[in-house]
Amino acid sequence: MTTIEAKEIEALTIASMATRDAVYETLRIDGDPNEVGHVIHTGASGASREISYETVRVVGHGSFGVVYQARCRENDEEVAIKKVLQDKRFKNRELQIMKAVDHTNVVKLIHSFYHTTEEDEVYLNLVLEFVPDTVYRIGKHYHKNNQRMPGLLVKLYTYQMARALASVHKLGICHRDIKPQNLLVDTKTHVLKICDFGSAKILAPTEPNISYICSRYYRAPELIFGAVHYTTAIDIWSTGCVMAEMLLGSPLFPGDSGVDQLVEIIKVLGTPTKEQIMHMNPGYTEFTFPQLKPHSWSKVFSKNVDPLALDLISKILVYVPESRFDCMTMCAHEYFDELRDEATTLPDGSPLPPLFNFSDGELESLSDELKKKLVPAHSRK
Ligand code: ADP
Repeated sequence: MTTIEAKEIEALTIASMATRDAVYETLRIDGDPNEVGHVIHTGASGASREISYETVRVVGHGSFGVVYQARCRENDEEVAIKKVLQDKRFKNRELQIMKAVDHTNVVKLIHSFYHTTEEDEVYLNLVLEFVPDTVYRIGKHYHKNNQRMPGLLVKLYTYQMARALASVHKLGICHRDIKPQNLLVDTKTHVLKICDFGSAKILAPTEPNISYICSRYYRAPELIFGAVHYTTAIDIWSTGCVMAEMLLGSPLFPGDSGVDQLVEIIKVLGTPTKEQIMHMNPGYTEFTFPQLKPHSWSKVFSKNVDPLALDLISKILVYVPESRFDCMTMCAHEYFDELRDEATTLPDGSPLPPLFNFSDGELESLSDELKKKLVPAHSRK
């Protein structure tokens, strides 16, 4: 797999814009498009055959639009339709990125089409495979019942999140909004899929990026320090925060403002040294922080949390971005050995979801040692 160049994405965008009306035109909408139960008739991408979707209910109000659950009338397939206002002056990065990413643990883009309202507003509709739950809702369920999420589920969700991000990062893409709400889960199979590439971007090493990105509790410290030349390591930080939240039952760093977010981090990791700050943002010159010592991870979590989970967290939630584990190294950590054990099953005895169906591209450029660890003998048969 090769890294997609920013230029290529640009070319794709322009091509898709130019052919937009021909390829993605919505033919007809029956009923009020803002109400559940309306039928959208669309031409399938490039085909003359008609595809129509009947909206079932609203499943999400995102920052940029509405997500509906819908049913495809032709094949009864359940889908999610994410409708976002398309600013005609800008390219839609989310669509281009979704087309480029293809992984078991990333929500699949089935189709996309545009529609224009009577007010002449253009909406982009992303038709996605429907995945009923999110890590956020699952976490809330356990919290409400005064329970912790079972250790095996934390492990399964963290592993699949890291594996998906490895493939996204391999393309040079940074998700930039990893949080429990953007991790879809099918609770029957426990397959996890990352969604919402609305903030995702290809990070070019020489080009600056906005630092005001990512939801507060999950923001890496370099973003809080205002770095504009950050890397995909910001997603790894968010992954560590989500993993910790699943173990704790509540957010690890619940800052109630941008600055307070840093205070929450400092309370656990201790005050960063000048050198660590330089690694996060060399342009940062104010060093007036309360001097706090780091807290040990075993004190942050309850006694019955798996020490291997704490070891993994201690390798991810570190100030210096280059020192954080990358996603595949994360997947190879001993904490996940239980998943590689042939005898492990889901609590109801059914098999674990697919965890080792690696494509050649996923394993490409990894060391033999890492490959051996990631692909257990029983899955090589
Ligand atoms: P936004 O970018 O506007 O925040 P998201 O893509 O994050 O929108 O979607 C918002 C919410 O909609 C998600 O948190 C989730 O609850 C729901 N959702 C998104 N995609 C799907 C999907 N494919 N299947 C089921 N629910 C989804």
